[in-house]
Amino acid sequence: MANTAPRVRFAPSPTGHLHIGGARTALFNYLFARHAGGSLVLRVEDTDQERSTSEAVRHIIDGLRWLKLDWDEGPETGGAHGPYFQTERLEIYDKYANRLLATGKAYRCFCTPAELAAKREAAQKAGQPPKYDKACRDLPADQSARRAEAEPCVVRFAMPETGEIVIDDIVKGEVKFQAGLLDDFVIMKSGGMPTYNFAAVVDDYLMEITHIIRGDDHISNTPRQILLYEALGFAPLPKFAHMSMTLGPDGARLSKRHGATSVMEYKEQGYLPDAVANYIALLGWSPGSTQEIFSHDELIAEFSLERVGRSPNIFDTEKLLWMNGEYIRKTPLAELAEMVKPYLVEAGLIADDMSTVETAYAAAVVALEQERLKLLPDIVDATRFFFTDDYSYDEAAWQKIMTQEHVPAYLTDLRDKLSALEPFTAETVEALLRAEAEERGIKAAQAFHPLRVSVSGRMQGPSLFHMVEVLGRDRVVARVKRAITKLRA
Ligand code: GLU
Repeated sequence: MANTAPRVRFAPSPTGHLHIGGARTALFNYLFARHAGGSLVLRVEDTDQERSTSEAVRHIIDGLRWLKLDWDEGPETGGAHGPYFQTERLEIYDKYANRLLATGKAYRCFCTPAELAAKREAAQKAGQPPKYDKACRDLPADQSARRAEAEPCVVRFAMPETGEIVIDDIVKGEVKFQAGLLDDFVIMKSGGMPTYNFAAVVDDYLMEITHIIRGDDHISNTPRQILLYEALGFAPLPKFAHMSMTLGPDGARLSKRHGATSVMEYKEQGYLPDAVANYIALLGWSPGSTQEIFSHDELIAEFSLERVGRSPNIFDTEKLLWMNGEYIRKTPLAELAEMVKPYLVEAGLIADDMSTVETAYAAAVVALEQERLKLLPDIVDATRFFFTDDYSYDEAAWQKIMTQEHVPAYLTDLRDKLSALEPFTAETVEALLRAEAEERGIKAAQAFHPLRVSVSGRMQGPSLFHMVEVLGRDRVVARVKRAITKLRA
């Protein structure tokens, strides 16, 4: 083959959303292709007609696009090796199945589902593995062809009785299988649909796939696929890289009960796509340094299959959350303000079409919280009091801070001094509060906290002085008055 640029594929079965595991397979294929200047093919394996849906295709594509994993060939893109939906390639599979039938490497099987079930049961009772007994394997060709005109049948691969299949896996090293232990598996179902193993091999060959990168839950399929390559005269074999599974913190395979598993759920929860992609990249791949935050381009530059580990990796939501916070901090303020805007609009705190002044105020508020946000929707509770006077006082904060003896007189004095303060900035407010503390012989905290509780209703929040500056004199003075009234009541 003259063509040396690698070609890889992501081949989802559209039976549900794009999950973390699938996203990781897609990401590793994508990074491998982009790093090497190769091509990524997206192929939809939709031959399971009962479980495949067009909504699932949509969800998967949306998930890939959200993560910014674009493909060179496939749905919505086209390409020279299409069609990219397996159900649009049925004649192709038919042709290759016939080729295997003609060369005796496959045979028709007329055993009915009931017969097969009875055989399985008998094998089980006899303590034997439930392998097909090859009853139809030696039917004469003419008889088989004649029966096929009248009877439903499947096509089975005629598994060699002996021999060893050795996979030289890029991640796992050498993995061996004995052909004699494998079944005469079905390659074409009655009704003309190919099975996964068969369709995948035909497509991987025709789409000129050079590297098959997928989860190691597929490794038991690989010897069957290699034998199909050989039986069909397809060469050279692609290289294989089987990645170990991602587990939940409890050591069980990642599933719904570990929390969100679909990529779009993370979008809805307010994660940033680059943070999710960065985190997923570290599920099994390690850069060989302690660096954890990688931009999209850095991931492409650094990725290699040689650095994909053999042991299972653990999905740690806490770490993902931390990483999301890192990405929020890295986001330019104007961009972040746009990202959180929909949440503030939905909460009724800001209008969709804001004036220039309102936009600047909202950006200043977001800037105060940027350091502390972990998820985009956190913005609503963190900043509510900036946008509405209808915030409540935290009960514990009120009890602890506002019932101190010095507070009523102090706040009354502060109200007047803040009204007259010129200019009204973080610096002048800070100087004023420190001078008040000194004058009254109270601790700095005793001067700061009552103002914080008055203007925000709580004890925690961004830097007091900056918060007060952003709120502005009018709001601050009105809120101090409101606290005084509540104290008197
Ligand atoms: N459709 C298969 C799946 O989603 C593809 C497996 C493979 O990559 O060969 O598991």
